[in-house]
Amino acid sequence: MTIRNGFVDSVGNTPLIRITSLSEATGCDILGKAEFMNPGGSVKDRAALWMIREAEKSGALQAGGTVVEGTAGNTGIGIAHVCNSRGYQCIIYMPDNQSQEKVDLLRTLGAEVRVVPTVPYKDEMNYQKQAGRFAATLDNAVWANQFDNTANRLAHYESTGPEIWQQTQGEVAAFTCAVGTGGTLAGVSRFLKEQREDIQIVLADPHGSALYNWVTTGSADMTPGPSITEGIGNSRVTDNLAGTVIDDAVQIPDQEMVDMVYRMLRRDGWFFGSSTGINLCAAVAVAEKLGPGHQVVTMLCDDGSKYQSRLFNPGFMAEKGLRTDAR
Ligand code: PMP
Repeated sequence: MTIRNGFVDSVGNTPLIRITSLSEATGCDILGKAEFMNPGGSVKDRAALWMIREAEKSGALQAGGTVVEGTAGNTGIGIAHVCNSRGYQCIIYMPDNQSQEKVDLLRTLGAEVRVVPTVPYKDEMNYQKQAGRFAATLDNAVWANQFDNTANRLAHYESTGPEIWQQTQGEVAAFTCAVGTGGTLAGVSRFLKEQREDIQIVLADPHGSALYNWVTTGSADMTPGPSITEGIGNSRVTDNLAGTVIDDAVQIPDQEMVDMVYRMLRRDGWFFGSSTGINLCAAVAVAEKLGPGHQVVTMLCDDGSKYQSRLFNPGFMAEKGLRTDAR
C-alpha cells in the first residue's frame, strides 16, 4: 500500500473483491470492483475527474471556473468533490423526481442545485439540455455532458480497464455491468478487447430501458418498465456507448435485483445500491452460461446509503410490490 496524494489521487485503484457466496454457488470467481471505495463514494468519481481534467487540458476550464452538469446523482457528487479540491464552482441541474437526500447531499458538498420539472430528453426543458444552455452563457465554464462527452469513457479505458487486467493477471473471462451513460462498459470493453478479443462483454439492463434490445436485436426499442433502479438504463445510444463491441446482454427484473441486494446485506455483509444488485445478478447469469472455472468481473458501483428512502424502505418496497424477505 502506498500513500495517495490528496483527493484526486485517491480516485480509482479500487480493490477487486471476490464475492464469496456467489463464487461458491457458481464455481466461478465473481469479482467486483469496489467503486464504493472511491473518495466520493461511487464509480462516477472517475468520470467526473476525467471530464474536468480534459476540460483543463483543452483550456476550456481555467482557474476559478465553473462546471455545470445535468445529473440525478453520483456524477454530480463526484463533480462537486473534484470542484472543491480544484477551486471550481459547481452547478447541478436535476429533475424533480429525485429523492430529497440527493439534493441535500449535493448542497452540503457546496454545489448550487437547480431542480427543474421532469420532462423527456427530447424536450428542450430537459435537465441535461438546460445545463448545456446555461453553461454556454457563462465565461470560463464547461458543461460536463457525461452522456456524450467521451472523456467519461476514456476514464474507464485508462483506469478501470487496465486495473481489471492487472488485478486478474489477464485471466478475466467476462466483464458485465449496467449502463447509464455507457462510459464504464464502453471504456472497459475497449481496453479489454485490445488485450484479448475473446473476453466476453455483457451489458446488464433493468426493465424500462432500450439497451437490451439494442444489443440483442440492433434496434433501440424500449422494454416495458418501470424499474426502481437509479442511474442505469437508457432510451438512447449515447456517444460514449456508440461503436463499442458488446457480445451479449441480459435483462434483470427488479425482484431479482432486490433479492440479490438483500442477500448480500444479510448473508455476505455488503450494503450495495441497486445498480450493483443488477450487476451481480448479471455476473451470476454470465458465470452460469460460461460454466465453472472462469473469472467474471463486474462493478460494485456504490453503497446502499443513498437508497434508504426507496430500496431500503419497507413501505416504499411494499407499494412497488417488491418483496424484501429473500434469505
Ligand atoms: N451505477 C450507478 C449507481 C450510477 O450512478 C451510474 C451512473 N449513472 C451507473 C451505475 C452507470 O455508469 P455509466 O454512466 O458509466 O454507464
